[in-house]
Amino acid sequence: MTRTKIAAILHNPTLNQQILVKAWVRTKRGNKNVNFIALNDGSTIENIQVVAESSLFSDESLKDVTTGACIAVKGTLKASQGAGQSVELEAESIEILGKADPETYPLQPKKHSLEFLREIAHLRPRSSTFSAVFRIRHQLSYAVHTFFHQKGFSYIHTPIITASDAEGAGEMFQVTTLDLNKIPKDEAGKIDFKNDFFGRQANLTVSGQLEGELFAMALGEIYTFGPTFRAENSNTARHLAEFWMIEPEMAFYELPENMALAEEFLKYLISYILENCKADLDFLAKRFEEEEKNKKQEERAEMGLLEKLEFVRSNDFVKLTYTEAIEILKDSKPNKKGQFKYPIEKWGSDLQSEHERFLVEKHFKKPVILYNYPKEIKAFYMKQNPDNTTVAAMDVLFPGIGEIIGGSQREENLEKLSHRIKEVGIEEHALWWYLDTRKFGACPHSGFGLGFERLMLFITGMSNIRDVIPFPRTPQNADF
Ligand code: ATP
Ligand code: MN
Repeated sequence: MTRTKIAAILHNPTLNQQILVKAWVRTKRGNKNVNFIALNDGSTIENIQVVAESSLFSDESLKDVTTGACIAVKGTLKASQGAGQSVELEAESIEILGKADPETYPLQPKKHSLEFLREIAHLRPRSSTFSAVFRIRHQLSYAVHTFFHQKGFSYIHTPIITASDAEGAGEMFQVTTLDLNKIPKDEAGKIDFKNDFFGRQANLTVSGQLEGELFAMALGEIYTFGPTFRAENSNTARHLAEFWMIEPEMAFYELPENMALAEEFLKYLISYILENCKADLDFLAKRFEEEEKNKKQEERAEMGLLEKLEFVRSNDFVKLTYTEAIEILKDSKPNKKGQFKYPIEKWGSDLQSEHERFLVEKHFKKPVILYNYPKEIKAFYMKQNPDNTTVAAMDVLFPGIGEIIGGSQREENLEKLSHRIKEVGIEEHALWWYLDTRKFGACPHSGFGLGFERLMLFITGMSNIRDVIPFPRTPQNADF
């Protein structure tokens, strides 16, 4: 007999038929006549209720049916008399596939803190919250590919190991096979990478953008979706050392089209989850509501989770320049009252998450796209505006998150680009292949990077980025 998944049973029940279910025990309760076993196999947030009559199953035969154990149940599906479920499985035989010692199984059926669950990250996907989060993570990945596929973008696998450290030196993880106890040095006392695996210094990528641009100059519209590594020591609830980023890159797009694509993309993804993950989302919305109750009045979100997602998908994002944003921030209450950790004094300062969140959550109460940033605070490859002081950059800012997307139109002019590369002190020869695209058939083009886990935070209502990736990597932590 083949097993039937619980999702299929509950969504399309065929009563009075014999079926086989294989799943993990969530709870067992009962009296001297009957035992009720709640089973979950991960195919849905919902459990199926198994009814085991004492006339068929002795206490002894059910002693290993404990929370966390894996069992196979053969039985007949019946309409349920009890409240809370419409069908139940009347057990005829129960086989124990894997016991879970109740003395040591850590995931007991009670409320555990997220901190504790992080310590048992190998078991936490068996909890309702994390199973919901990770089913949504799958659906969201699928939606990313569907969106771009429907638009004719090609998915490009950019390298994970890279020898270019163009984006942000100092934030990269090194990749080496050198014996760290005997590091070879050259005459000048510097590390000699000649005998290292690649014959040169290599790192884990911080972005697939530069390689993505090369393919946009050939296939037109491409995207990457892969792991990204940053050795920045920022121990925040929004930063991981290993995260997943989606980076579309489009030939012939200028900044306004880039912004429009970012907005359409985010709305599509949110819609997709609203329409395809109802049960999981409802569960997370309830959880979010409970969490909010524990917060102080002034810290509570203005909307529930579903309401917030609905709101974002059905409202236009505010578009405004960096310069306009600085004016608003300068005149804002928290700035005048000295409530910002980094006060806004003059044009040119980098915006911190507190400023981004003020604009989005307090001032506009809508997602905001800021564009035309000072060139000094942005990367070398961004298109220089005619004013000579700003670049055609854009950041999408979301409530509760701050920056969720960073992007720009790229500088396609060879002279301007080389000039900027020298100015910021990058060695031009290291980027010869990148500069070649500006020599041969250059064209206006644009792209952006969406942090996948930041969007996951927004959609699931979870508050720490460590709880939306299966096994988080953060400073001092690479367990599991
Ligand atoms: P932040 O200022 O928040 O650190 P950033 O300016 O370094 O972001 P970009 O280099 O523009 O970010 O990267 C593009 C996107 O990748 C960001 O908008 C964000 O969604 C995501 N991102 C960046 N760094 C991290 C990280 N350490 N962990 C998770 N996501 C990240
Ligand atoms: Mn950063």
